[in-house]
Amino acid sequence: MTLRDYITAVPKVDLHVHLEGSMPPETLLRLARKHGIALPVNTLDEVRDWFTFIDMPHFVNIYISISRVLQTPEDIEQLARDFLKGQAAQNIVYSEVTYTPYTHYHQKGIPFHEQLDALNRARRWAEDTLGVTMRYIFDIARELTPAEGAITADWVIDAFHEPDSGIVALGLGGYEVGHPPGKFSDSFARARDAGVTLVLHAGEHGGSVNIHGALAEGSVRIGHGIGCIDDAPLVALLRERQVPLEVCPTSNVCLGGSATLAAHPIQRMIDAGLNVTVNSDDPPMFNTTLTEEFIRCAETFGWSAHQVDRLIMNAARSVLLPPDAQAALEAHISGGMVDARVKYL
Ligand SMILES: [Zn+2]
Repeated sequence: MTLRDYITAVPKVDLHVHLEGSMPPETLLRLARKHGIALPVNTLDEVRDWFTFIDMPHFVNIYISISRVLQTPEDIEQLARDFLKGQAAQNIVYSEVTYTPYTHYHQKGIPFHEQLDALNRARRWAEDTLGVTMRYIFDIARELTPAEGAITADWVIDAFHEPDSGIVALGLGGYEVGHPPGKFSDSFARARDAGVTLVLHAGEHGGSVNIHGALAEGSVRIGHGIGCIDDAPLVALLRERQVPLEVCPTSNVCLGGSATLAAHPIQRMIDAGLNVTVNSDDPPMFNTTLTEEFIRCAETFGWSAHQVDRLIMNAARSVLLPPDAQAALEAHISGGMVDARVKYL
C-alpha cells in the first residue's frame, strides 16, 4: 500500500475552504438549469473543462457564475449538502468554511438569517447522515467599502453567541493588494469587543505587510500567510506565538503566489518551525482536493506519513471549537491515523 492510499483514508481537517468556491460542476449545472441561467458552457464535461484554471479573470468569471446560480436559500442548502458529501468522500471530518453572506444579500436580497438557516440545515443533515460537520467563517470581501463590510460584521456580532449558530469567526477575503486589513478596523474592533474571533486572509499576494496588519487586528490564524517567508522578524514572531497558517499550495500556484509547487515556501515554513496547516481554498476551481494537496506536496517535498500526520494534527489543534469538542476531534483523528496506518502502511 502507498502513502497515497494512507492520505486518502486518514481523517482530515480543512480550515480554509470557500463554500461558493467549492461548488461541484454538477451543482453549478443543476442550479443553472433550475433557474434558466445561461452559462458559457452546457454539458458536464464542458463545465469541467471550463473549471480548468487559466488565469485570474477566468477565475473571477467562474466565481460570478457560481454566485448567480445561488438564487434561493434552498440553493445554498443544496450547495452545502453537495460540498459536505465531497468532504465526507475524502474523510474530511471537520471543515471551517469561509462563506460570503453579503454577496447573496446584496445581489439577490436573501436575508442573512435565511442563509444561516440553510447552512445549518445542511450541517445537521451531514452530521446525521455522513458523520462529518462544518463551522462558518463569514468573511468581508475586502474590495467592499468599510460601510458595506460593517454589515457583515453586524450580522456576525448579532448571531455569534446564538446557541449552535455554527459561526466561529468573522473573516476577511478577496484580493489583497490595495485593501489592507486596517481598512475594516472599525468593524474588527467592534467584533473583538463583542467576543467574536477574527480569522483574516493575509500574505497571499500582499507580502508580509498585511500579515502584520492582520495580527494587529487580532486575527487568531492567518489565511495563507506565505508572504511571511522573506520577513525574518515576522517568521520569528509567528514561530514564537505558533500562529496557525492556513496554507493552500495549489491555489497559490494557480493565482500567482508561487511560480510552481516546487518553489512554494511551504517546506521552508515548516523547516522554520511555523504552525503550518494544509488547506484547499477553492478546490474544484483549481482542479484539486484537500487529499490531492497532501499527495502533491508529499510527492514534491518527500513527506512521510509522519509528516502528513503532523500537519493534520496542526489543523486539528487550530480549530475554533470549544475545548471539549476540539479534544474530541483530535482524539477521533488520532484513532483514525492508527487505523489507517494498520491498513495502508
Ligand atoms: Zn481563501
